[in-house]
Amino acid sequence: MKVLKFGGTSVGSSNNINKVIDILENYGKEDAIVCVVSAIGGITDKLLLAGKQAQNKEDAFNDTFNKIKDIHFNIIKELNPTNSDAILNYVDEKLEALKSLLEGIYLINELSPKTSDKLVSFGELLSSFIIAETMKNRGLSADRKNSQELVVTNSNFTKAEVDYKVTNNNIQDYFKSVPQNITILPGFISKSKAGEQTTLGRGGSDFTAAIVAAALKVDQLEIWTDVSGMFTSNPKMVKQAYPIKKISYQEAMELSHFGAKVLYPPTVQPVLTLGIPIHIKNTLDPEAEGTIISHDPVNANGPVKGISNINNIALLTLQGSGMVGIPGFSKRLFETLSQEKINVILITQASSEHSICLGVEAKDAPLAKSAIDAVFENEIALNKIDPIIVETGLAIIALVGDNMKNHQGISGKMFSSLGKNNINIRAIAQGASEKNISAVILENDVKKALNTLHEQFFETKTKQLNVFITGVGNVGERLVEQIKQQKKYLKENLKIKLRVVGLSNSRKMIFNEEGIDLKNWKEQLENGEKATLDAFFEKTKSLNLRNSIFVDVTANKAVADMYAKYLKQSIGVVACNKIACSSDYENYRLLKRLSLEYNAPLLFETNVGAGLPIIDTLNNLIASGDKVNSIHAVLSGSLNYVFNNFNDKTKFHDVVKQAGVEGYTEPDPRIDLSGVDVARKILILARESGVEMNLEDIENISFLSEAGLKSDTVEDFYETLIADEAHYQKLYASAKEKNCQLKYVAKFDNGKASVSLQEIPEGHPFYNLEGSDNIVMFYTKRYAQQPMIIKGAGAGADVTASGLFADIIRLGND
Ligand code: ADP
Ligand code: ASP
Ligand code: MG
Repeated sequence: MKVLKFGGTSVGSSNNINKVIDILENYGKEDAIVCVVSAIGGITDKLLLAGKQAQNKEDAFNDTFNKIKDIHFNIIKELNPTNSDAILNYVDEKLEALKSLLEGIYLINELSPKTSDKLVSFGELLSSFIIAETMKNRGLSADRKNSQELVVTNSNFTKAEVDYKVTNNNIQDYFKSVPQNITILPGFISKSKAGEQTTLGRGGSDFTAAIVAAALKVDQLEIWTDVSGMFTSNPKMVKQAYPIKKISYQEAMELSHFGAKVLYPPTVQPVLTLGIPIHIKNTLDPEAEGTIISHDPVNANGPVKGISNINNIALLTLQGSGMVGIPGFSKRLFETLSQEKINVILITQASSEHSICLGVEAKDAPLAKSAIDAVFENEIALNKIDPIIVETGLAIIALVGDNMKNHQGISGKMFSSLGKNNINIRAIAQGASEKNISAVILENDVKKALNTLHEQFFETKTKQLNVFITGVGNVGERLVEQIKQQKKYLKENLKIKLRVVGLSNSRKMIFNEEGIDLKNWKEQLENGEKATLDAFFEKTKSLNLRNSIFVDVTANKAVADMYAKYLKQSIGVVACNKIACSSDYENYRLLKRLSLEYNAPLLFETNVGAGLPIIDTLNNLIASGDKVNSIHAVLSGSLNYVFNNFNDKTKFHDVVKQAGVEGYTEPDPRIDLSGVDVARKILILARESGVEMNLEDIENISFLSEAGLKSDTVEDFYETLIADEAHYQKLYASAKEKNCQLKYVAKFDNGKASVSLQEIPEGHPFYNLEGSDNIVMFYTKRYAQQPMIIKGAGAGADVTASGLFADIIRLGND
């Protein structure tokens, strides 16, 4: 004999019921079958809703009833297109009884647990009847047996306890000589010794099946559901979760106790004692292997087997000096909760005994509070303890595995990876058996926490980076293209899964939690929603994804002003925008501090020398104990381009214009030509060398004409370049006469910095600097005579984009 159970989704539509019947028909060819079924998917919830509505005198209970009726009638007709009358008549009669019950609840304004059980029992009674009769209609040897006549319980309504002795006898007696080959049993429902209708608790059909399997001592219990087994984490929350092939009873129990709904926790006990394996299978994919739960020890996946979560948790904290050393205190506390039938899911007690924290279902919290406060009334009045504190909006996440106790550092890894992602932990509990480590966190953080832990313990080899890019002009566009092109390489070679989740320009923004399809991102962005910096931040924050990185590819101050907000959410910031790091020293320090405090890197390599590894090299020198004495550098790709192309045969205005066309200057060329851009760069290098400095402290000797310096608009500025051609030619002539090259040089020496146009003599390392190249010479304690030199392309969209890309990947390798 075989026992199979099919859950709500499996019997949730005529299509799925046909799949169930196919499976049963196949199995029935070899063996007698007991098939336990749930109510049609969603019906138990609807019955409870109708009950609540009737109790609250809301006429809407009629609509809910009609929906319930329609769902059943449609399924019956679809399953039995030519011979549904008898089934419809019977079901109609039952539904009339349901309607009367709801009207009764409406009239008396009350829904007791006892009535609630009577109400929800309709779900399983109807589904089991419909399935059995449909099978009979199709000529199969099947019949329904009402399990209320078999499973006997106490009167603990809504979660009754089974009387195994009577129940086992009933089941064994009944199945001794059943005429039909396939017996359909409604799950979940039972009767008390006094004959009242009871239920085994939400999700209890699994339990019914286990009770029957144990009573009949079958070889295997099969639980058929809508997923292919017990997964490493809820597959609806964690995309990368996968089915666990084999798992122990204890692990399965622990996972289900901590929220893996795929198995109702009490299910394991009856079959565990007899060593009957549970096979979890997928009705929608019968070929999938599924999960076997048994005594067999298996370590295939490492010490952590799965991660689960329970939402809607409240944390009760009882604290006060009067608790210390008083015997019987905990006993009174737990007795109170047990009398009120409140299930305590998690307990932590500080070693000082000063406080005790309990995790309970949020719905139980008000009752728990009033009951506990009443029991400790005296102690509260004497100020020995405080009234109980209730926090809601919480969830529990738990790591589960039999072998965790033999491995060190698992909780360390768990909490550090949660911490890195800014997931605040309110309480921690570790089962004495060390089969689970659980933590209470904000419900809002559950998805991020599950994914973070899943990545940490099950996808150790890959890391997912979630990137949010603002600014898709010249550089931003190249960055997106480079990401698109390198995606596969990163995944295969660096084990980094890079997803662009958010994209924005100044007008529009788009998001896709699964990663924006980069094939037609421009088109998508054009059709995106209206963008503001705040809306982009809020959306990024609310997605609450692990390893989130905000990338600023603008030159905009308002964007730079947003960094602190991102960092405070533990969202890393990568910027080519120089404004933040060259702003007030206070602001620069604040951003650095936030980056450390919230474990959110702030990387801005492209602020100096585009893609050249200048800041990184400097950081490495300092970190390894070196000290910077001076820095000499040509840091403006645009000015280098301008002075490399300007001579007595060209016009200064035309060369500056051309530099703009080729993308070497900022949109406003004055920022480059006034030396401000270079000043910002040397400021950043000075600061990264450990010096407190502001932009005003940098001596800026401008080479621009008076009129050029004073121009108000970009157009005016260009006009002055034409008018003052002689001024610029003079600069050229003077250098030429001395056989020198004009270079715009930044210097940092003995704590002082300056930027100015200089005449560089032949033989100097700057003399031959070509095109838009940059060069930096670091003179340090270690590189005292011969400087450390970094030289190469220091401007241009492609190299800047690749510098940003390198920063993003650096975050991935953290
Ligand atoms: P049924 O109606 O078949 O009893 P349930 O909805 O009670 O099905 O349980 C199956 C659901 O359990 C899955 O659809 C999934 O969303 C959820 N679930 C939660 N945790 C896990 C897990 N670790 N593995 C598989 N499913 C899980
Ligand atoms: N129908 C019941 C519920 O939804 C029992 C079950 O499906 O296991 O809780
Ligand atoms: Mg279930």
